[in-house]
Amino acid sequence: MTQLLLSWIESANGADTPFPLNNLPYGVFSVGEGDLRCGVAIGDRIVDATGLEAAGVLRADADADVLDAPFWNDFMALGPAAWDHYRAGLTALLSAEASEADQDQVVTYSVPMAEATLHLPFEVTEYTDFYAGRHHAVNVGTMFRGAENALPPNWLHIPIGYNGRASSVVVSGTDIRRPWGQLKGPDDEAPRWAPSARFDIELEMGAIVGQASSGPIGVDTADGNIFGYVLLNDWSARDIQAWEYQPLGPFQAKATATTISPWIVTKAALEPFRCDTPARVHELLPHLRDTSPMLYDIELAVTLTPQDGAVSTISRTNYNEMYYSAAQQLAHHTTSGCPMRIGDLLGSGTISGPEQGNRGSLLELSWGGKEPFALADGRVRSFIEDGDTLTLQGAAHGDGYRIGFGACTGTVLPAHDDPFKG
Ligand code: CA
Repeated sequence: MTQLLLSWIESANGADTPFPLNNLPYGVFSVGEGDLRCGVAIGDRIVDATGLEAAGVLRADADADVLDAPFWNDFMALGPAAWDHYRAGLTALLSAEASEADQDQVVTYSVPMAEATLHLPFEVTEYTDFYAGRHHAVNVGTMFRGAENALPPNWLHIPIGYNGRASSVVVSGTDIRRPWGQLKGPDDEAPRWAPSARFDIELEMGAIVGQASSGPIGVDTADGNIFGYVLLNDWSARDIQAWEYQPLGPFQAKATATTISPWIVTKAALEPFRCDTPARVHELLPHLRDTSPMLYDIELAVTLTPQDGAVSTISRTNYNEMYYSAAQQLAHHTTSGCPMRIGDLLGSGTISGPEQGNRGSLLELSWGGKEPFALADGRVRSFIEDGDTLTLQGAAHGDGYRIGFGACTGTVLPAHDDPFKG
């Protein structure tokens, strides 16, 4: 395992900073009323990548200004060789070995993170969400269909997914308004129109496709096409979902919002933390078999903070619990010939572990609302209440350093008045 790489920016050298020189995640920031700019997190600062490019200090492309944009999509389009070359250039500028002249340039083109507002780091061109965590699928299947029929017969052979809405994706810190929807009445009663009373989170990782493809691609090519990862919260209205999901899957239950963390942690930064997917129950068909470690050891946690309340950690789990890697999901996604675009976002599916405290949704934590769980301050929860702030955290842990993602957080606001009432 690699060691902490030292930077001349002191705040990047602690064991606790999420953003050491080993990380260098990509985001989009603004200061005050200023323009949105591409930035790189290092310690407690943001390096202005747009400014460094314009000044000719560090360019990703010799001819085109790919970072003169409020997103990293044009940079992704340059491809993996350029990604590596740029990262090497950044590392040299920020390393403890950097010349004083280089350090002066970076000081000119950097801002304190505390003064910046963070925005979506890339233009989300498409969004697909999978259902690839086995513990989650077994838990939900058991609640809805009984233990005997928990996993549908296809589940152990393909990563199940649905096409989501790119327009629903928002950056961490965006408030989430409780949705209205059509909810099933008890037994034979007619459905009713009401605010969701079973509003929930799903703890997921999001993989960002950094290279376009126009036909079926194998798992190795898919792994190479992934640019990086973010934390992802797939806000879910369980009561809307329960009524609408048959036969075509989730629709309005998942369309309110999807929150992602503000920094793209690159595949390069996660390289030391690759791990294998869990043992297969059935051998996959050859085109979906992983040929090397393509999952990652990333520790994850969920906190819930009631309005005017204390923070409670309600779940801890790890991305390595997933049954399918993002590379397998992307490969499967293309089997029909489905074109993939730069900026395509692939949600992993809810990440739950084997124990009660490892569950990645309130639906599972409260077992469908039947077993409300306690918060630190003595309150209990089954589903989200108005004013609750839900936060996902994630980090890969190296030798004396960590690769952090930055928080993926959102506060749930009360539903608006009935939008269809005079
Ligand atoms: Ca989901």
